[in-house]
Amino acid sequence: MSEHGERSTPGKGLVNGLAVTLKTMTRRSTTQQYPDVEPDLPPRSRGVIALLEENCTVCMLCARECPDWCIYIDSHKEEVVVPGAARPRQRNVLDRFDIDFSLCMYCGICIEVCPFDALYWSPEFEYSELDVLDLLHDKSRLGDWMPTVPPPPAHDVLGEPSKEEATAARKAAGPGAATPARTARPAARPAARPAPTGPTPDPAAGGPAASAAASETAAGGPATGSAAGNPAPETAAPETAAPEGRAPGGSVPEGGAPEAPETGK
Ligand code: SF4
Ligand code: SF4
Repeated sequence: MSEHGERSTPGKGLVNGLAVTLKTMTRRSTTQQYPDVEPDLPPRSRGVIALLEENCTVCMLCARECPDWCIYIDSHKEEVVVPGAARPRQRNVLDRFDIDFSLCMYCGICIEVCPFDALYWSPEFEYSELDVLDLLHDKSRLGDWMPTVPPPPAHDVLGEPSKEEATAARKAAGPGAATPARTARPAARPAARPAPTGPTPDPAAGGPAASAAASETAAGGPATGSAAGNPAPETAAPETAAPEGRAPGGSVPEGGAPEAPETGK
């Protein structure tokens, strides 16, 4: 009897089970017999970290950024005589570069932060050990993984050009694209300075704000206002007299408050 009170057909479950078995038997197996059959891994698999010792400058970035603190680096300085140089140069010589793969969590941070492309992922994973202490790979063993590092993927033809390519293209095009943006700023600032003086100046006097000398002669009395600050010459005389130096900035806060401190410089 089933749970709904229906009488089940005898042998139905057995037939269903055999049907599943037969269906599975005819399917292609997805199990890989690993020791006998090598797994087909993606080329960028994170198997082990390889070290290109020649590229390492002992900057210690990788060791500092490693969240597991499983990179150990030792070095010493060496003097190098460069022909033509006034004095010998110094360079770091790598004495020890170990990675403890019993602690490593394969996050890849060390590879990403290395500014000199000295660390690479290799898809090799067959380095299990009977003793956990043997999972500490020294620089020679890390260097042995380098031949197993796959070549970098091809550039995407539709992707953005690299930084180096973009810089080279900009240089080849001449100082056209980047310079106008820089020259635009200095041009905009001088234009913005007279702006605060524009609204405040006297409409009646008629003279433009630039004619400071003329304003002094015309106003005569409020000579202190012109001396206090050039931005508000004669027009702001009644207001500027009280606040002294930064009077224009205080009197025009609603108009151009941010530009007032710059004019003071
Ligand atoms: S992969 Fe991550 S945990 Fe492993 S050594 Fe690099 S930074 Fe450290
Ligand atoms: S970040 Fe790169 S260059 Fe710097 S110490 Fe590590 S491996 Fe060497």
